[in-house]
Amino acid sequence: MTTQHPETLALHAGWRADPATGSVAVPIYQTTAYQFDSPEHAADLFGLRALGNIYTRIMNPTTDVLEKRVAALEGGVAALAVASGQAASAYALQNIARAGDNVVSSTDLYGGTWNLFANTLKDQGIEVRFVDPADPEAFARATDDKTRAYYAETLPNPKLRVFPIAEVAAIGRRFGIPLIMDNTAAPLLVRPFDHGAAVVVYSGTKFLSGHGTSIGGIVVDSGTFDWEANPARHPLLNQPDPSYHGAVWTQAVKPLGPIAYILKMRVTLLRDLGAAISPFNAFQIIQGIETVALRIRAHSENASAVARHLSGHAAVTKVIHPSTATGRDADLVAKYLPKGQGGLLGIELAGGVEAGRKFISALKLFYHVANIGDARSLAIHPATTTHSQLTEAEQIASGVTPGYVRLSIGIEHIDDILADLDQALAASQA
Ligand code: PLP
Repeated sequence: MTTQHPETLALHAGWRADPATGSVAVPIYQTTAYQFDSPEHAADLFGLRALGNIYTRIMNPTTDVLEKRVAALEGGVAALAVASGQAASAYALQNIARAGDNVVSSTDLYGGTWNLFANTLKDQGIEVRFVDPADPEAFARATDDKTRAYYAETLPNPKLRVFPIAEVAAIGRRFGIPLIMDNTAAPLLVRPFDHGAAVVVYSGTKFLSGHGTSIGGIVVDSGTFDWEANPARHPLLNQPDPSYHGAVWTQAVKPLGPIAYILKMRVTLLRDLGAAISPFNAFQIIQGIETVALRIRAHSENASAVARHLSGHAAVTKVIHPSTATGRDADLVAKYLPKGQGGLLGIELAGGVEAGRKFISALKLFYHVANIGDARSLAIHPATTTHSQLTEAEQIASGVTPGYVRLSIGIEHIDDILADLDQALAASQA
């Protein structure tokens, strides 16, 4: 098949039909283990002399389809699906950074990722240095010889200021440092690999899945980052790994293609830390991906319509959506998100926190939940929920002001969305 368009890949990549039954839908292989052909076959699988199924903590045929599908959509060579977006972010870094190393990250992050970086990774001895992406060269200034990765979100939740992917990826490649992009909020709108990113992570829980049923995460390897070029920069991939008979990951898997990064993550981190996705959740995310092209378009159109409607509304002091960006931020939107700006939108209400509380209480169609990317419209007040574990200064740095309300605009009819917002805004000022 020669067709490579994302709408087609979303339905076809990685699967045709079940060889045993002809099943067109991807079967849920709800099994823990897999019968080996012989003792030699078992030994070859464990010794990485052959690739195949061993145990569902580290691979599964249903999950394999999800991995192939997302890798194809992103233009990557391999992917690893895990139990959540959080596990994906953690593994993406732990795979190449250990105690004593550091990572340079954008300040514009989802609150859970901020917590992971500022606390849990710090406790593990990995320092995350936060820089403002408004100045891409800040990444270079924060870099030293222990820097193992740069990290950012394409369309950061909740700041929604588009990240300068190509600019920072180019700085990283100068130093031999991979840029890892969390593309959770912008699937199919932008492919970070087209702009030089080395690795993409997703919370598959959100737009990819789309139905608010299943938690999952995915790490995708572009295959274009040369981990060998600067062995001192990436010791975990270039020095013998005592946990795997002294394997040197960049050498051990060469015949299989440029998949050292993902293979190491699968057979060491997933083996040892075990954040495996269940085959059922992998199946659910595959179902979601089949329609993601249609949904992300509808999310984007509806959110842009909401942004237009709320700009100038008496109860709203600020609308935060890429379509309302100005100056350099608008240039970044034009460069990276010409196909649509996604479903996330922030508003600041006249009347601050109290108005926000009244607004959320008055919503009837929108659900009040800690989630984004559901087909239904959702709302939350980040300062008292998703970002409440951050200090006030950290909240401000990641874009959360006291009166900020985050909306994830769904794919309902636009008139119904606007009617619910209008009545809740009126209630917020009462
Ligand atoms: N990345 C982003 C941008 C998110 O919004 C989230 C969750 O809200 C995550 C990562 C974490 O994903 P999960 O909830 O699947 O662990």
